[in-house]
Amino acid sequence: MLIGAIDGGGTKVLTAVMTGSGEVLARRQRSIPTADHRAYFAQGAEMLGECAAEAGVRLAELAGVGASLPAMTDGRDRVLGSPSAGWGEFTVRPLLVPALGMGTERVFIENDVNACALAELRFAHGGDNFIWMTVSTGIGGAVVADGRLVRGAGFCAGEIGHVKVEFATPRACGCGGCGCLEAHASGTAIGRLARAAGLGDADAKRVEQLARKGDPAAATVLAQAGRYIGRALAMTSNVLNPERVYIGGGVAHALDLLLPSIREEFERGALPQCRNVVIEQTRLGYEAALFGAAAVCLDGLAGKGC
Ligand SMILES: [Zn+2]
Repeated sequence: MLIGAIDGGGTKVLTAVMTGSGEVLARRQRSIPTADHRAYFAQGAEMLGECAAEAGVRLAELAGVGASLPAMTDGRDRVLGSPSAGWGEFTVRPLLVPALGMGTERVFIENDVNACALAELRFAHGGDNFIWMTVSTGIGGAVVADGRLVRGAGFCAGEIGHVKVEFATPRACGCGGCGCLEAHASGTAIGRLARAAGLGDADAKRVEQLARKGDPAAATVLAQAGRYIGRALAMTSNVLNPERVYIGGGVAHALDLLLPSIREEFERGALPQCRNVVIEQTRLGYEAALFGAAAVCLDGLAGKGC
């Protein structure tokens, strides 16, 4: 069985044709602006068409297609909005189905971090109870409890980026709130902390490089971000009692540097019974959301998705 995967990022789109066990036969990556969502999905379908041709099949011959999107979704067919992509509400299948030439019941969508959690579950044997967290420009999260993705009443479960972690000197967050984890520990926030620490216009990646070279100011910036992450994980762990926390996104490369302060603050806030959590980088790597799209498709075809 061959399937199609579309990882629709905020700045770039990855597509692949894969086997049902997650072996990639062909892939494409391209920058596609999100502003015109019709053109965005049309181009995504076109890229997937190129992958199918390379894999020696027609698009319509794929068993199904999954798309992971930088947006809140209903896990079926509807995008509910995305501040980062500038999207409001719309349905996806009418945009994708004509371009793919396959039955509407074979096309599935999901929020990108939820999709990563589904991929961890399916392809990496992630366990039955875990939190998946993306730390990049923003911070996203997903929860798997007792072997199932938790979507929530309004499809926004797992938004760990908006757990409040700073009350004395809270910063404004893109969600309209103040003191959110995203406002204090995302890649963007690390860049801001770096500027305040006199590190010029160093971004999170540069801060990591400086910290690895022994720069004390960069190490302090990462320790600060790590404490906030540890605080948010303690709060969520007391509610969910996960076995593991998987961290993905660009900032995950610095996890070894962040971990001491994450753990210190985590142990301060987590119940003794909830402290035995493994916090590690996802093994899905850079293409976690692409495998996520594949997992969304396979779950959907198996009747789990909708
Ligand atoms: Zn927020």
